[in-house]
Amino acid sequence: MKHSTTSLITNNTLTTLQERDLRHIWHPCSQMKDYEQFPPKVIQKAQGVWLYDDAGNRYLDAVSSWWVNLFGHANERLANVLAEQAHSLEHVIFANFTHEPAIELAERLVRMTPEGLEKVFFADNGSSAVEIALKMSFQYRAQTGQTRKTRFLAFTNAYHGETIGALSVSNVELYNKVFRPLMFDTIRSQGPDCYRCPFGKQRDTCEAPCIQAVEQDIIAQHEELTAVIIEPLIQCASGMNMYPPVFLEKLEALCKQYDIHLIADEVAVGFGRTGTVFACEQAAIQPDFICLSKGITGGFLPLSVVVTTNEVYDAFYDDYQTLKAFLHSHSYTGNTLACRVAQEVLTIFEDEHYIEIVQQQARRLREGVIKRFKDFPYLGEFRQTGMVGAIELVKNTRTKEPFASDERIGYEIYKRALEKGVLLRPLGSIIYFMPPYIISEDEMNFMLDVAYEATCDYFKERGASL
Ligand SMILES: *Cc1c(COP(=O)(O)O)cnc(C)c1O
Repeated sequence: MKHSTTSLITNNTLTTLQERDLRHIWHPCSQMKDYEQFPPKVIQKAQGVWLYDDAGNRYLDAVSSWWVNLFGHANERLANVLAEQAHSLEHVIFANFTHEPAIELAERLVRMTPEGLEKVFFADNGSSAVEIALKMSFQYRAQTGQTRKTRFLAFTNAYHGETIGALSVSNVELYNKVFRPLMFDTIRSQGPDCYRCPFGKQRDTCEAPCIQAVEQDIIAQHEELTAVIIEPLIQCASGMNMYPPVFLEKLEALCKQYDIHLIADEVAVGFGRTGTVFACEQAAIQPDFICLSKGITGGFLPLSVVVTTNEVYDAFYDDYQTLKAFLHSHSYTGNTLACRVAQEVLTIFEDEHYIEIVQQQARRLREGVIKRFKDFPYLGEFRQTGMVGAIELVKNTRTKEPFASDERIGYEIYKRALEKGVLLRPLGSIIYFMPPYIISEDEMNFMLDVAYEATCDYFKERGASL
């Protein structure tokens, strides 16, 4: 068998930097063999929505570099506060020590998040925030004499990250399959599936009859359940599966009735993505935990938080000897630079009225997609919530039969769009748009034109008549 690295670097079209990358770097979410045909782009700088490579090309970042960017790359204000902070205090141990950026950020997060969330626990990525919420809920039960409540309920097609605990509550076959023997036993309920609604309802007008299945699971198993975890309004990684706020309202009512914590995983949708600062607001729910990351630093630095209630906090608050403390720490917990940048993100949000901007941009995105794709013969559904727009391509629009995943339609469209200057990253055969909020009208038109052309090119190459 040919040595993998050798076959990668014998491709003589590689630049020196690409060759050096492939010698030692193992990229995430990638089959490295694909890089033989499609080596990594070497990005040298970025500005606004644009990424610039070392060969003089630029790419519009339609996915906000994995959903983290809000106000554009190399944002001046964020870069300035970061540099300033780096010159005075970059990081300090967070046990027994603190700093103003963390204090200020915590105060502001408590003011912004839904009622009842009062205590902020820091970490440095979304998966860890999920782990923390799960562990806090679990330990809370142990310390309040509810020793039977040890299990979690999560939904079909959920994605909560890829560490083992986060994977255990996730349900995306691609990421989960091989690790199943390592995972804990989560109760899996059928989540909303609005495009293929088994009740034949419409997303905008339904009363979420699909909650019944969840209710049955909760009734049957509530004595063992400590928490339900959900991605509010959009199950992002499994394909931008969107559902209405009424589902969350009903879920919250069930959780309250049966004394089950509700964990809102807003890692992807927090900070304006859905058109409100937090997705939970649209259902006016008060979760027991909210997990935030991705957009929190506007794409500058890794940071995450879990915000929870005084009730949860109080169950850990006791004399040292009772050993009730919550022991979970990361070396970079509460990193000063990240906190300072996050604080500036919140300031920009307020100063520049970003909620209005996002709502206006969302209308523009909707109109732009519909104008181009409305008669596209493989358009199963266009769905949108705020600044997330998704096109689900299907083999048959009447039966909604999906394309087989091994056709890799999304990947083929991704490659064609990249050649034309747009970074899309379709999920299976779902093309989605999640650009930075600052995208201009011309840039949005360019993004959508390229997405449309790349999609048409691909289907024409397959012999479709369009
Ligand atoms: C991305 C994501 C995570 C994991 O965050 P990482 O920072 O990638 O670990 C968790 N939950 C949701 C909903 C996400 O989209």
